[in-house]
Amino acid sequence: MATPVVTRFAPSPTGYLHIGGARTALFNWAFARNTGGKMLLRIEDTDRERSTDGAVQAIFDGLKWLGLDWDGEPFMQFSRAKRHAEIANELLAKGQAYHCYCSPEELAEMRESARANGLPPRYNGYWRDRDPSEAPAGVAPVIRIKSPPSGEIRVHDHVQGEVVFKAENLDDFIILRSDGTPTYMLAVVVDDHDMGVTHIIRGDDHLTNAARQIVIYNAMGWFVPEMSHIPLIHGPDGAKLSKRHGALGVEAYRQMGYLPEALRNYLARLGWSHGDDELFSTDQMVEWFSLDALNKGAARFDFVKLENINGHYIREATPERLYEVMLETALEVGRVTDVEGLRANRETALSALPELQPRAKTVLELIDLAQFIYAVRPLAIDEAASEQLTPEARVNVGAFAEVLRTLNEWTVPAIDAAARSFAETRGLKLGKVAQPLRAALTGRTISPGIFEVMVLIGRDETLARLEDQASA
Ligand code: GLU
Repeated sequence: MATPVVTRFAPSPTGYLHIGGARTALFNWAFARNTGGKMLLRIEDTDRERSTDGAVQAIFDGLKWLGLDWDGEPFMQFSRAKRHAEIANELLAKGQAYHCYCSPEELAEMRESARANGLPPRYNGYWRDRDPSEAPAGVAPVIRIKSPPSGEIRVHDHVQGEVVFKAENLDDFIILRSDGTPTYMLAVVVDDHDMGVTHIIRGDDHLTNAARQIVIYNAMGWFVPEMSHIPLIHGPDGAKLSKRHGALGVEAYRQMGYLPEALRNYLARLGWSHGDDELFSTDQMVEWFSLDALNKGAARFDFVKLENINGHYIREATPERLYEVMLETALEVGRVTDVEGLRANRETALSALPELQPRAKTVLELIDLAQFIYAVRPLAIDEAASEQLTPEARVNVGAFAEVLRTLNEWTVPAIDAAARSFAETRGLKLGKVAQPLRAALTGRTISPGIFEVMVLIGRDETLARLEDQASA
């Protein structure tokens, strides 16, 4: 039987879950779920200054919000430093690594003379074959790995294909510093080995690290996990995605009103494909996922596409769920009036939502569209709506309010019929009547059907808002 798949997501805490990291996590997760394997989480918290509790928590929160779960407890890399040192010493004992006593000055000199000879500035193996008895007194050594002096190191990569590195281009890099702390290169290999990782899926900025890491795997005689190095995400202009393109942290997308299922769908398509399918559920993604369908070309972040996908999921969601998300979002971004308005008008908001959903691309837009429900009189009228409220239109608004006052039934068909006959008597098109009504009742030019709005807010509020804008 094949070994069960074990993947891992190994973020370094930076203060937020990076959108590119989220995509890496998604691919690892989908692959693990597709194969019935496990996805582990490792927090690479060796940069003690950046790895605050808050920064680590932001990763957990981002993953949870995105709906990506991991198996077991997260591994904390820093806490495993002793184990990393143990392996460095084991490599030393096996003759696969050695102590190096070079001072910073000697190393600088080495680099200089390499440069002068037209060679890349690398460590030249000075202590590789020296006898330990030559060690200078009182100098704490580092431990360096013995890289193969010649030949090739091959990375068999599911995305990049067979990538060949010349061994002569890899120097004997440090695996344990003179203070006994492990380097990143060593820590990653030891952790992946101890965690039983079978597949590594990560950004292609780690491809050259892979060659160095393979040197360590081979020196230990360990099995090398299968590798997939995915191209990084680029901005719409083709440059590596950065702050100037837009938000980088997943929480910013939550605050802008994207739904997690929309972001999952969008991120999945950013570097992976299943035929021409653009919209698919997470279950479908899991079912269809394969490493061979990861794309080799760089993916470009397309904000318009993300919005459209989000609009699709907003239309699909139930009003009950959306109402909760609207409340949470309003709360998170500090929109106090909206929080209070939504809380006080739950039922109306729920009945209005099916009308609002087709009109919004984000949850923030949904909140804006719902404001007419709890807007406080006299309503703030936006610029476009003001243009509808010409002196003539205001006269009609007042006159129609009088019609509505005596209407027998307060239903959409009854109001609709009354509006049509009102328009007809005055020789106006229905739109000429409806648009100023919309402006007066919602303060905007976009809203659900205006008769639906009237039913939703009730007759008293309708009459009061119309009278606020009417002139006799
Ligand atoms: N901590 C690394 C990063 O955030 C990932 C290392 C790895 O996946 O091997 O880029």
